[in-house]
Amino acid sequence: MIIVMSPKATQENIDRVIDRLKDSGLRAHLSTGEDCTIIGVIGDRKKIAGLEVSMMEGVEKTVRITEKYKLVSRNFHPENTIVDVAGFPIGGEELAIMAGPCSVESEEQLMEAAKAVKAGGAQFLRGGAFKPRTSPYDFQGLAVDGLKMLRRVADTVGLRVVTEIVDKEDIEAVGKYADIYQVGARNMQNFQLLKALGKTRKPVMLKRGLSATISEWLNAAEYIMAGGNENVIFCERGIRTYETFTRNTLDISAVAAVKELSHLPIIVDPSHGTGRWQMVQPMARAAVAASCDGLIIEVHPHPEVALSDGDQSLTPKNFNALMEELKKIAVVMGRRV
Ligand code: PEP
Ligand code: MN
Repeated sequence: MIIVMSPKATQENIDRVIDRLKDSGLRAHLSTGEDCTIIGVIGDRKKIAGLEVSMMEGVEKTVRITEKYKLVSRNFHPENTIVDVAGFPIGGEELAIMAGPCSVESEEQLMEAAKAVKAGGAQFLRGGAFKPRTSPYDFQGLAVDGLKMLRRVADTVGLRVVTEIVDKEDIEAVGKYADIYQVGARNMQNFQLLKALGKTRKPVMLKRGLSATISEWLNAAEYIMAGGNENVIFCERGIRTYETFTRNTLDISAVAAVKELSHLPIIVDPSHGTGRWQMVQPMARAAVAASCDGLIIEVHPHPEVALSDGDQSLTPKNFNALMEELKKIAVVMGRRV
């Protein structure tokens, strides 16, 4: 349930409502907007059903919420949330551009990629050190050595680091070197991992599961927020459909759906979303036109020898060309790169 306070409600009115919630064993989530205050009620469904606050002074109306996710919901927090990542506001006017190789392979490869994406205008260096590969015989990543390389290279070049975490045991290690924890598609419903990330305060980028519905995805984010970590960013990366020409079907409509249902920022991954480098540029353009808050793009200095996802990696030259195009599209959308 949400309680919409009247624009004329006083602080005392608000405090009384909050006290009533506490007395009933419920929690209040406050959202103070320009016009009015909205109090989200969190807790046991039966207790919420028995709550009587609509006649209290300063209360304009109460609205029942049918979705299970609350903290993630735009009903609870009507204004867009901006997630600060090491000084960069994701969800603000400037689009967040995360770029780099699928996997960290060596210091030389990473440095070459980092310099290229920085020159193109990215603010974040991506690269996997723990790789969730379909086959156990494929390259599994450089683990902690890879994390250290990411930090060293990013600091040298002047970028922030986003990298995947696959196991809750690695929260400390990854947190030491990364600015954003990336939860990959295969772990979107790893609830133990999500709960553990909820206890941190570092931003989490939650990728959409391989076949996850929007509702399952938003509920997964609720796990992180319910633990107290409000710094969640969604990432649409394509879903499994009957189509085989592309690796996944990039669901651009998810951007509009998430913007409608949630206040959290959403970025788009056209690399995993298509699996084909030829389609990365057009889909990135479409994502910006759909009002996403940023992009995560695989860029490799030599895609033909990449240890993972070479087929969907842009060369530095193509990444640069894309960034030039995005400059124009972003302006039309009231954004910038
Ligand atoms: C990745 O970003 O390298 C990755 C493995 O993505 P996803 O979890 O979307 O497959
Ligand atoms: Mn990849």
